Amino acid sequence: MVPRKEPARVALGCFPTPVAALDRLSSSLGGPRLLIKRDDLSGLGMGGNKVRKLEFLVAAALELGCDCLITGGAAQSNHCRQTAAAAAALGLECHLALGGQAPAIPEGNLLLDRLFGAHIHWSGTRRKGEDIPAIEAELRAAGKHPYVIPYGGSNEIGALGFVEAIRELSGQLAAMGERCDAVLFPSSSGGTHAGMVVGARRYGFRAALVGVAIDKGEAGEGPFRDRVLELARGVAALERENEDFSASDIILKNDYLGGGYGVVGELERRALGLMAREEGILLDPVYTGRAFGALVDLIERGEFTRGQTLLFWHTGGTPALFPYAREIL
Ligand SMILES: *Cc1c(COP(=O)(O)O)cnc(C)c1O
Repeated sequence: MVPRKEPARVALGCFPTPVAALDRLSSSLGGPRLLIKRDDLSGLGMGGNKVRKLEFLVAAALELGCDCLITGGAAQSNHCRQTAAAAAALGLECHLALGGQAPAIPEGNLLLDRLFGAHIHWSGTRRKGEDIPAIEAELRAAGKHPYVIPYGGSNEIGALGFVEAIRELSGQLAAMGERCDAVLFPSSSGGTHAGMVVGARRYGFRAALVGVAIDKGEAGEGPFRDRVLELARGVAALERENEDFSASDIILKNDYLGGGYGVVGELERRALGLMAREEGILLDPVYTGRAFGALVDLIERGEFTRGQTLLFWHTGGTPALFPYAREIL
């Protein structure tokens, strides 16, 4: 077998992110012991899970000699905000295709995109980067060398960030003398999930990896699972590993889609309040609020019980709390 070439990586974030016990929440919920992994504290541009992907994606862009980054997402995209911060940190131009229209006052992530100097291209109903190819063509015609980062940073290169995240977590748990039975996290464009699945196989990490589907558009039981599976296979192939994965390796909870992507309901409100009041930790309204709400529900249904240890992966997103103020309170 050809030896694996270490993929290029640039340091952008503060790693390892902390792992802590949620003692007050564990006892108030009365179920399993709860741990949290704080990727909301990954540093760059107010943090989040995309920093891990960007360390590999931006390194690939630099290797190709690119001078600007293009990506896309929803108006309050955390991924776009972290990409804008990465571009600023490395002196690259950044172009964002954002769903919706320019609001009168840029709030939350949008305010930060602007502060980081990103160029914003409003895309109306197209909130998943559909306009990226047109922006790319325009920049090439202007003599620039753009690097395209897909929606959510979820391709084989971006997912490498979460292969390494599993190595990081394994080491931390070993050093703390902890083990965990399951890891629960929000799953939306699939890169986080796929990277974890590959990392768990590679580093012998045995906990169940439970993704909570966030986006109705992505979640249809079949299609989204297939997307994560295809991505996991792609990552293993990129790394020249002889690993195969099957649908049973991808655990997805599809029952927490509520009113759809970005719609805050009772589940999210309760989760945000519990985490804030019991632990002094902020969740976000779109991803971690929904995923932690799912975790609470699964405990209440007895799917996770006393005697087990459950780790909640906080993937960030807190700048979106502010534009959602009316929906949260
Ligand atoms: C993007 C994002 C996710 C989902 O990660 P994917 O790799 O897209 O599945 C979860 N939480 C937050 C806060 C995010 O910004």
